[in-house]
Amino acid sequence: MPLPHRWLTSLMARYNGTSILIDCGEGTQIAMKEKGWSPKPIDIICFTHYHADHISGLPGMLLTMGNAERTEPLLLIGPKGLTKVVNALRVIAPELPFEIRCMELTEPEQSVAFDGFRIEAHMLDICLLGTGGMMPLPHRWLTSLMARYNGTSILIDCGEGTQIAMKEKGWSPKPIDIICFTHYHADHISGLPGMLLTMGNAERTEPLLLIGPKGLTKVVNALRVIAPELPFEIRCMELTEPEQSVAFDGFRIEAYRVNHNVVCYGYNIVVERIGKFDVAKAEKLNIPRNYWNRLQKGEIIETENGKFTPDMVLGEPRKGIKVTYCTDTRPTESIVRNAVDADLFICEGMYGEPEKLQKAREYKHMTFYEAAEIAKRAGVKEMWLTHYSPSLIRPEEYMGAVRKIFPDSIAAKDGRSVDLLFTD
Ligand SMILES: [Zn+2]
Ligand SMILES: [Zn+2]
Repeated sequence: MPLPHRWLTSLMARYNGTSILIDCGEGTQIAMKEKGWSPKPIDIICFTHYHADHISGLPGMLLTMGNAERTEPLLLIGPKGLTKVVNALRVIAPELPFEIRCMELTEPEQSVAFDGFRIEAHMLDICLLGTGGMMPLPHRWLTSLMARYNGTSILIDCGEGTQIAMKEKGWSPKPIDIICFTHYHADHISGLPGMLLTMGNAERTEPLLLIGPKGLTKVVNALRVIAPELPFEIRCMELTEPEQSVAFDGFRIEAYRVNHNVVCYGYNIVVERIGKFDVAKAEKLNIPRNYWNRLQKGEIIETENGKFTPDMVLGEPRKGIKVTYCTDTRPTESIVRNAVDADLFICEGMYGEPEKLQKAREYKHMTFYEAAEIAKRAGVKEMWLTHYSPSLIRPEEYMGAVRKIFPDSIAAKDGRSVDLLFTD
């Protein structure tokens, strides 16, 4: 129990912008306040177990976070039963402006990856910020995708108003790490200078990586005439090959050329996943136990007795997560090939009216039905249509016919989002 001058045991750890709390008994938020800290920025709370002296401070902490208008999701980690316990406690903290994600521990030893203190990660969150093509409309921002994985934020395309669409979701452009551009038509890049200014005003200092077709540096330099002084570095990576893959920490971005009236690329975001630790295999190969953990994390260990590699202790790689994104193109084999088995396929659907096929051909765009044919051939799990022509008022009217081709089709609306998790 808490005593005057002796709060319940609880640990606060902060690393690289991420705040972690272990256990949260009665009074823990007061103990934090005494240190001058607010509960608002806590990203993760881990629970050792569910005795009251380790968790009864949670509802009050949640209320305080809510009152501080937190909108970022909160991750809770704890033994089996976490969701049940948290739901029970939330009877007295029912309405919160942020999402709570519960991760229940099921194995005797388990590892969860985060940005910089990683091992194995678990979730890719996706938000289609806008669904418009050509020009932004009231209630329909220009097509742009925000993806977040393991502490890294990726934006694909940044047309006029994209930063407003982000703000509507409660997000700031400041933490974006990477912006990928499909091509350099204004509806896909004209929001960049304003976004850079906002990042600069927020005193960002981390470098920003831009990826796009050839000419990126020239285009960015031109746009920076109206955003010249920035407190952070901009790095440009120009795509030169028809298909190109860029590796990051735990995931990769694959770019593939499509067919528009200027050079244009589609993108995959692919989260890889290593195999499960195989104890029998490690024992059979006589790998010393003190190396197991490091090998599981992907380290190669060289000793006098020889070299040990991760594949000696790991099973087959497990299924990861793949999101395929393409806009402003005619159907191509490169899209089908790259979208194979995607968990989510986000594709342009400029026209819903079947009679506009000729127009789609002429302006190098796609109809809903062409997108659905690609989804079907690639065997994707789900397709979201986007990049609607401004003349297309009610995309959903055409979905009956689209679903006859590919049943799991959705006429996406602005802000549509999903958390993609590993399936096993
Ligand atoms: Zn466009
Ligand atoms: Zn275009």
